[in-house]
Amino acid sequence: MLEQTRIVLVNTTHPGNIGAVARAMKNMGLSDLCLVAPKLFPHPDAFARSSGAADLLESARVVETLDQALADCHLVVGTSARGRHIPWPLLNPRQMAAVATTLQPQSRLAVVFGREDRGLTNEELQLCHHHVHIPTNEAFSSLNVAAAVQVIAYELRMAVLDQDKAEAPQWGVSWDIDLAENRELELLFDHLEQTLVDIDFLDPDNPRQLMNRLRRMILRAVPDKVEVNVLRGILTKVERLAASRKPGGDDV
Ligand code: SAH
Repeated sequence: MLEQTRIVLVNTTHPGNIGAVARAMKNMGLSDLCLVAPKLFPHPDAFARSSGAADLLESARVVETLDQALADCHLVVGTSARGRHIPWPLLNPRQMAAVATTLQPQSRLAVVFGREDRGLTNEELQLCHHHVHIPTNEAFSSLNVAAAVQVIAYELRMAVLDQDKAEAPQWGVSWDIDLAENRELELLFDHLEQTLVDIDFLDPDNPRQLMNRLRRMILRAVPDKVEVNVLRGILTKVERLAASRKPGGDDV
């Protein structure tokens, strides 16, 4: 499971933190590091702080957008130092690691970490199946990003070491179909949004929280590829019917 886990850092400001993350990861047996638009990278401070983990920095993938970092991931977890406007399914690191041990061997987990100053945006957090909060002092809740990676990576490692004993949640175990990848889910959400606009259920000028609520519901189910295809098939049919009912539309 450690090989299946990707650590994603969004817009990191200090290259030293990237180095410290690489070190924390290598200590715990993680190796897949993805950097989304880092401010300064590569940088000597990153290499200095990585100690013996320069190999992780050399193999780190640098991408422009979070979507690119997550496209081939099946389970996405976003970390946050504080509660947000719409609560999302929330786990602590130990619960998250227990879920991770139930992933099929071909599935990939991404754990996403935010900017030093502002964390992750609501939009970024809404890309995630689950959120993880490290239960810190409420009056001083924000860890250094590399310290947060260390805690998460440690729990993942402990879960692997304890795997035989763990009573983990059961979804994803010996499932007959692969879980949908993030890119497939994002296409589903685009399709759903378009259909809801076409049938006048969603007002694009006043969308409120509708798409976020639907996103949260669908992500909570952690859908597989066939489920996503079925939903998209239904949407296509709804769109055709709606078009045929509009004046001048085609008959179905
Ligand atoms: N001021 C920011 C904190 C940024 S700390 C905010 O309020 O969101 C940088 C990153 O470290 C966060 O985006 C998150 O990925 C991680 N982090 C820090 N403290 C955390 C905590 N208690 N639980 C989970 N992640 C945490």
